Amino acid sequence: MKQIAILGSTGSIGRQTLAVVDALPERFGVVALAAGHNMEELAQQVSRHHPELVSVASAALASELAERLRAERLAKFPEIQHGAAGLTAVATHPDATMVVSAAVGVVGLEATYAAVKTGKQVALSNKEVLVAAGEIVMAAAREANVELLPVDSEHNAIHQCLRAGRHTEVKRLVLTASGGPFRKASLREMASATPEQALAHPNWRMGRRITIDSATLVNKGFEVIEAHWLFDMRPDQIEVVVHPQSTIHSLVEFVDGSILAQLGPTDMRMPIQYALTYPERAASNGIALDWSKLRRLDFERVSSRRFPCLRLAREALRKKGAYPCAFNAADEVAVEAFLDRRLPFAGIAEVIERVLGRTPRIKMGAISDVLAADSEARRVALEEVERVARRAAAV
Ligand code: NDP
Repeated sequence: MKQIAILGSTGSIGRQTLAVVDALPERFGVVALAAGHNMEELAQQVSRHHPELVSVASAALASELAERLRAERLAKFPEIQHGAAGLTAVATHPDATMVVSAAVGVVGLEATYAAVKTGKQVALSNKEVLVAAGEIVMAAAREANVELLPVDSEHNAIHQCLRAGRHTEVKRLVLTASGGPFRKASLREMASATPEQALAHPNWRMGRRITIDSATLVNKGFEVIEAHWLFDMRPDQIEVVVHPQSTIHSLVEFVDGSILAQLGPTDMRMPIQYALTYPERAASNGIALDWSKLRRLDFERVSSRRFPCLRLAREALRKKGAYPCAFNAADEVAVEAFLDRRLPFAGIAEVIERVLGRTPRIKMGAISDVLAADSEARRVALEEVERVARRAAAV
C-alpha cells in the first residue's frame, strides 16, 4: 500500500487526490495532510482519512483545528504543526512513500524540494515549483534518483506519450491550450474584463489563481517552462496550440513524423490517478471520454497580440536565472490585484513585463536564492501594480 502525504489537501487538486484515494482504498493510505486556512474542510478530511500528521498556515489556525477535532471525539488524534516547518514535516514524513505537491504558489517550494531531497516519489501539481526553481529542483531529483510525476494534465499526457519512444527520438512537444474564456474576445473586450468573466473557464473547474492564469495564458507559459525542466527539451522544441475542446491533453511528435496524443475527459482525477499508481494503471471507476459527444477537434494558433504573457514566459525561460521566478511572483501579485479589482485585466501582462524589465541578471544556486528573488520581485510587482492602477484610474 502506498502511504501518501498531500501538500494543499483542501484545494481543488488536493480534494480530487483524496477522491482518487477513496476510490482505490486497497492501494492508498493517507499519512499526512497540509492545508492553508480552510479548517472546516481539513477537519472533515482528518475525520475521514486519519492522518498521523497535519499542518496548517499559522499557530492560530492550528489551535482552531485542534478545537474542531476535539469536538469530533476522534479515536486517533493527529499531531498538528504549522507554517513552513509544518509543511516540510508533512512532505518528509518518514512513513510517506509518495508526496502530492498541490499547494498553490511558491509556498510549496521548500517542502517539495525537501521531499525530493529525501527521495520521496513526488506527484507534482504545484507548477510554480519548477517555474521558480526548475534547475535546482531537477538537479536534486537527479541526485536522489527521484522521478517527478506530473499531475498537470498536459505534462501528464506528454509523460504518457513519451513512454512510446526514446528521448533522442522526440522532435517536439505540443502543449494544448483551451484558449480560456477570452479565446475569441477582442483586445478592447479583454481590457475591461471583470474577475467574474475571467473566472468563467469554459472547460475546467480549478482554483482561482490558475483559472485567471488560464485566461491570460500565463498558465501556458508556466507549462512551457515546466515542460522544459521535466522532459529536458529545448524551448524551441515546445510548442503551444489552441485546442478549444481540451480533449487532446497534449501531443508528442517523434523524429519520424509520428505524432502521439493523449485524449481524455476534462477531469483531473484521471492524471492524478495515473501519477499515483505509476508505473501501473488502475481501473478508472467510470471516468471516461464520452465519444458520442465528441464531434470535432479544432486547432488554432495563439494570438501573441492578445496573449502577450506567453511571449513573456518564453523570454523569462530564455534568460533563466531569476527571470522565471520573477515572472511567477509578478503574476501572483498582479492576479491578486486583479481579483481585488485594483488592476485591469490587461494590467496583469503589463505588470509582469515591467517587473521582468527590473529583474537583475543573477545566478540561482540554492532555494534561498530563489526565495530572495521571489520576495524582491513581489516588492517590485506591488510598486508596478500601484503605478499601472493609478494610470488606469486616470483614463
Ligand atoms: P487551490 O487554490 O484550489 O488550492 C491551493 C491549496 O494550497 C489549498 O489546499 C490551500 O489551502 C493551500 N495553501 C494555500 N496557502 C497555503 C499555505 N500558506 N500553507 C499550506 N497550504 C497552503 O489550487 P489548485 O488545487 O487549483 O492548484 C494547486 C496547484 O496545482 C497550483 O500550482 C496549480 O497551478 C496546479 N494545477 C491545478 C490544476 C487544477 O485543475 N486545479 C491543474 C493543473 C495544475 P487552503 O485552501 O486551506 O487555504
